[in-house]
Amino acid sequence: MKRFCDNCHNTGLVCQSHLRRPFTGSYGCGCGEAGVKCPVCRYEPREPDLSSVLEFEIRCHAVGVASAQ
Ligand SMILES: [Zn+2]
Ligand SMILES: [Zn+2]
Repeated sequence: MKRFCDNCHNTGLVCQSHLRRPFTGSYGCGCGEAGVKCPVCRYEPREPDLSSVLEFEIRCHAVGVASAQ
């Protein structure tokens, strides 16, 4: 399960001048500045990604064992 990003509300974009506000959506900044990639999503994606890969490998292994019996 993907972690919800509080910073950009999972839009992936934040306001260029207000990096803690989402650029779009109902909580969008709307100050007129350009949108930039969310620094939170960008700099912290490794932990959830790694765990999902591990989960996938464990599931594959379990399936392999089950079908071998
Ligand atoms: Zn703004
Ligand atoms: Zn984000």
